[in-house]
Amino acid sequence: MNRILVTLLLVIWVMRALSQNQANNEKYVLVIHGGAGTILQQTMTREKEKAYKAVLEKALQAGYAKLQSGKTSIDAVQAAIRVMEDSPLYNAGKGAVFTHDGRNELDASIMDGGTRKAGAVAGVTIVKNPIDAARAVMEKSQHVMLVGKGAEAFAKEQRLVLVDPKYFYTRERSEGLQKAIEKEKVQLDHSANPQDHWPDSKFGTVGAVALDQEGNLAAGTSTGGMSNKRFGRVGDSPIIGAGTYANNETVAVSCTGWGEFFIRNIAAYDVSALMEYRNLTVKKAALAVIEKVGNMGGDGGLIALDKNGNMAMPFNTAGMYRGTVTKEGKIEVLIYK
Ligand code: ASP
Repeated sequence: MNRILVTLLLVIWVMRALSQNQANNEKYVLVIHGGAGTILQQTMTREKEKAYKAVLEKALQAGYAKLQSGKTSIDAVQAAIRVMEDSPLYNAGKGAVFTHDGRNELDASIMDGGTRKAGAVAGVTIVKNPIDAARAVMEKSQHVMLVGKGAEAFAKEQRLVLVDPKYFYTRERSEGLQKAIEKEKVQLDHSANPQDHWPDSKFGTVGAVALDQEGNLAAGTSTGGMSNKRFGRVGDSPIIGAGTYANNETVAVSCTGWGEFFIRNIAAYDVSALMEYRNLTVKKAALAVIEKVGNMGGDGGLIALDKNGNMAMPFNTAGMYRGTVTKEGKIEVLIYK
């Protein structure tokens, strides 16, 4: 009897070990995020949660379809980001947050890990899909980053879809700006901590990292930046090395969070550098970078996908909208810790 029991326990143990091993060995081809922040289950309705997840799923499907049909990781990144830009729920494209002056100034970047070519735009106000503009800069110009009016003139020349700035208006974001302004008025009198002046004004930046059938990595990020931003403020999202980075030898990374801290830590490139020079795994490197950002007082998260299809999605906020697709097409979307 005892022997039967021992054998049974042994079989269960081996099966569990095998299934865990399988889970750890899962290979991913596409990882996306929809921003990190104080996303609490208590303050989220079921309908809202469903709506956010539906967009993530749609974005993953769009990106995965590209990879399945043999398209490049750049195509997959762009397709996934476009879906999130077109949704009013995320802080990119339609649904972008407002500047202090009540405008929407959008930033985006994209990078090809094979050629290490990159493109970015910052402070654009009439480009429907800023990720398209970033890609056009990468492929159709001799530059890496174009800003403001110049970027818009280039987008026009490239025949990208342009919209009236009103297109980007959403009531939620407009109310978000009013709240941020109110809070700032109160807090400027009472607090010396700059962190208090920008509480939760950054939700829903979007990003994607992908690995195609040829083994090429790509990364992209798109955002409206931070609510109540002023003076042409630009965050990490359109800055190659800070918010976005891809290198076939190491990893593809897209960041989200308090951009100033990601710029000062050269966060996206740092994940790659830790892997290249210190031989860290993608999990360890990604976590180390988020810890650095946190130690400095910044908050946020990132997604990272290495050349072997291993991924990491660390964040130091309450939540981060995020999702993954495996090589076989298994989709998973998550919001909280
Ligand atoms: N990183 C973005 C910025 O600072 C904001 C965000 O990720 O939500 O512009």
